[in-house]
Amino acid sequence: MSEPVERPTIFERIAAREIPARIVAETDRVIAFHDIAPKAPVHVIVTPKSGDYRDVAALAAGDPGLLAEVVEVARGVASELGDGDYRLVFNTGPGGGQTVFHVHAHVLAGGLEEASLAGA
Ligand code: 5GP
Repeated sequence: MSEPVERPTIFERIAAREIPARIVAETDRVIAFHDIAPKAPVHVIVTPKSGDYRDVAALAAGDPGLLAEVVEVARGVASELGDGDYRLVFNTGPGGGQTVFHVHAHVLAGGLEEASLAGA
């Protein structure tokens, strides 16, 4: 089921510096910042600055180059803040744990042996 997406989304407001966040990386189209409720020693959200796509499948279909850029920023964050190994999670839909309907990747690193797959 598709929920209506309110614009600007919370992540668009972070990208516009209307809501403070601990930003760790940025390109023209992508921004990365620490999750406000971390589930792992490194837990960073990587997201397009625009909320045009609600989830990863929509992004892959609509702008695969932008999805590749999200993945590349995630890789860079994981190597800068951790040892380069990481988990990349795209919660999709309410049943998949998605609460912000603006596509984003969770970069999780450090202590993952103890982290569950759910609730990222
Ligand atoms: P989802 O549940 O949609 O996969 O992930 C949304 C994530 O965004 C959650 O992990 C949540 O903690 C994080 N989040 C929600 N609001 C904010 C915020 O205002 N600032 C930051 N830094 N993270 C947020």
